[in-house]
Amino acid sequence: MDYISTRGSAPALDFEGATLAGLASDGGLYVPREWPRFSEQEIASWAGLPYAELAAKVMAPFVEGSLTEERLLELTTQAYGRFAHDAVTPLVQLDSQQWLLELFHGPTLAFKDVALQFLGLLFEEFLGRSDRNLTIVGATSGDTGSAAIDAVAGRAKVDIFMLHPKGRVSDVQRRQMTTVLAPNVHNLALEHASFDDAQAIVKRMFNDKGMTDRFAIGAVNSINWARLMAQVVYYFAAGLQLGAPGRKVAFSVPTGNFGDVFAGYVAAQMGLPIERLIVATNVNDILHRALAEGDYSQGTVTPTAAPSMDIQVSSNFERLLFDLGGRDGGALAEQMAGFEATKAMKLTNAQREGASALFSSARADADEMASTIRWAYEHCGELIDPHTACGLFAARSAGIGAGIPVVTLATAHPAKFPEAVERATGQRPTLPTRVGDLFEREERYASIAGEYGAVAAFVAEHASPKV
Ligand SMILES: *Cc1c(COP(=O)(O)O)cnc(C)c1O
Repeated sequence: MDYISTRGSAPALDFEGATLAGLASDGGLYVPREWPRFSEQEIASWAGLPYAELAAKVMAPFVEGSLTEERLLELTTQAYGRFAHDAVTPLVQLDSQQWLLELFHGPTLAFKDVALQFLGLLFEEFLGRSDRNLTIVGATSGDTGSAAIDAVAGRAKVDIFMLHPKGRVSDVQRRQMTTVLAPNVHNLALEHASFDDAQAIVKRMFNDKGMTDRFAIGAVNSINWARLMAQVVYYFAAGLQLGAPGRKVAFSVPTGNFGDVFAGYVAAQMGLPIERLIVATNVNDILHRALAEGDYSQGTVTPTAAPSMDIQVSSNFERLLFDLGGRDGGALAEQMAGFEATKAMKLTNAQREGASALFSSARADADEMASTIRWAYEHCGELIDPHTACGLFAARSAGIGAGIPVVTLATAHPAKFPEAVERATGQRPTLPTRVGDLFEREERYASIAGEYGAVAAFVAEHASPKV
């Protein structure tokens, strides 16, 4: 399988190249040249497979040419062996229609572990084949940072620089990043910056020739294709348990950067019968406006109880627009240049119609999040986190037909956001024992001005040159 850029002019790469590259050199994102498609019989034959084996089946067409099937299975077995639940991503039934897909049983209690534990192993595998060093630069609104740091801490030939907006991530999230003291881990707290500012700095570094000539800059954000690929697997896992491919399933996805829900779109292209993908946002609702009205215009970020969704520019939306616009890289490059210049764009008719065939959307405000957390506790005895609550709010208001299961992706463990959960339910969720003494451990991070020059200088001083 080879990978092409959504903006049409970067060279095609194989899976290994796309994994190590992150952003394409023309500013676009890598996508597979075509979607592999499984037959109904093939999908049906996977029912009951352990998660790691299912993962190897689903991902095999994407890694062809870079990993053998045997090696792929070894890596998925190792990555998913670190999860605290044997089912890796267990389903929990809430009522006759609503389900939760618990994606938070990995080491850092958020769904990002599912992809990043695997990505960390891919980096090690591919870097071991050459004498290259990789410099990972990432921006986090909270959960990516800790999951990425856990996945690469102490690994050879990789340095990680993780940017977070100072004071805008929860204490648990910050401590999960800053208490990892491995020498290849560098946490940067950006002063007076939002997540979007941090993400813009990272994007700029990928396009800064002065930096990319010296360092091989890699991505752990969901601009990295390998992450989305690993997330496709749990749509199949949940679908199979609920009767797919013989039965359709709907998914509701708490969304920020459009990565997780784009993985659902990919699952649908590969043959999983998905009734609907519900894009759930908080009040930072650029995606809801884009899908409901065709208006993709950047507002200002409002901090909420679901900080990992406090995003006004959703990088992976570009991948959807590319696919829905007939995969015309030149046209999309123009459309995105317009967006970058004016911070606003209108979807084309083809993009709007294509999106409405599979996606719907909803936005949850603070009261709706809190009342959904309360509903899950009072009616089902489940404590859910504020991100999951946005998803469940959207799932319950989507009007999906009776008889079609609706699966909300539970993206974070409630103990990552104990204040919001306690406010809504009176119950304080406790951190699982495997996370243990987080609040006793020493923290280490650098506070730095939230501007490109300061960040680039810090990275240049601390990173290893590419060879
Ligand atoms: C990252 C994150 C999201 C948003 O996921 P995207 O792939 O960026 O859409 C939602 N919830 C939680 C808890 C997250 O960590």
